[in-house]
Amino acid sequence: MSIQHLVRENIRRLTPYSSARSEYKGRADIFLDANENPFDTGYNRYPDPLQWEVKDKIAELKGVAAQNIFLGNGSDEVIDLLIRIFCEPKEDHIVILPPTYGMYRVSADISNVEVREVKLAARFQPDADAVLGVADEHSKLLFLCSPNNPTGNSFSLEAIGQLAEGFPGITVVDEAYIDFSAQPSSLTLLGRYPRLVVMQTFSKAWGLAGIRLGMAFASAEIVALFNKVKPPYNVNQLTQEAVLKALDDKQQKEQWVQSILGQRTLLAQYLSGLEFVERIYPSDANFLLVKVKEPRRVYDFLVEQGIIVRDRSRVALCEGCLRITVGAPEENEQLFRALVEY
Ligand SMILES: *Cc1c(COP(=O)(O)O)cnc(C)c1O
Repeated sequence: MSIQHLVRENIRRLTPYSSARSEYKGRADIFLDANENPFDTGYNRYPDPLQWEVKDKIAELKGVAAQNIFLGNGSDEVIDLLIRIFCEPKEDHIVILPPTYGMYRVSADISNVEVREVKLAARFQPDADAVLGVADEHSKLLFLCSPNNPTGNSFSLEAIGQLAEGFPGITVVDEAYIDFSAQPSSLTLLGRYPRLVVMQTFSKAWGLAGIRLGMAFASAEIVALFNKVKPPYNVNQLTQEAVLKALDDKQQKEQWVQSILGQRTLLAQYLSGLEFVERIYPSDANFLLVKVKEPRRVYDFLVEQGIIVRDRSRVALCEGCLRITVGAPEENEQLFRALVEY
């Protein structure tokens, strides 16, 4: 089943930019085709526009073919490209399930694309009937964030599958926190749902927020659309080198994840003993959503101690809540000492 009917007409008709580095496919010794500086700085050549070396390693790690992978300048670029590929401004819309990650709305707003909101239901789970109820032929993207930011919980694969099946547009599962989750990844659903995109990132568990690298896993047809629309060299050489190095040491990532999971449990125990803490929501991510009495006072007190958390207390369904990232052991102890003093 083709997804071309969901694509904006101007994108379907687009003749993409053809870079020197992607036009010539053979082997050669002398490259005089891209107006580069010939003197070797280590970075005088344009990078591989399709990052095949990186994709081959990710393919092996994730068990997904390299042709089914797109890499972006952070997940944020992937979100922006999805909107620009599929959503005709003032005509189409995206569907989001608040409280959730803020970039879906910001990217849609920048592109002048309508946002339909269907609030999460009990235990921050999606209300599938309500989501499918707002959908029509102009519903191009459904963003499911699982584990969800800022609530920390995951959606079941059954619920995600049901939505991917029923939603007429593209269902996007944002798995930025999947490495911290007890729930399995939606990558296993890719074969079954041709309109599914799964996003992951190197910004969280891999400790590489600074290099800006996001992944999208999807059908070859969707990957081809990303490649058509992306800036030719959206993933720079420094980033490609840094991620290749990181991918050679998966154990390091696993150790960090184990440490953070242990600290998450410990931090929840610490917090549950505090009188002003009303609720600690279950977390499948590297943060805790914590409901406290007088959240702004707690926030300001922590700022005075040089500790910054995220105040989510004015976000609908997160009233009274702070979002606290699980830090290194000594950071979490300092946080706890500050909260005891509070
Ligand atoms: C942190 C986060 C990301 C990561 O975005 P990058 O642009 O890859 O750094 C993506 N989605 C969610 C929900 C996040 O919380």
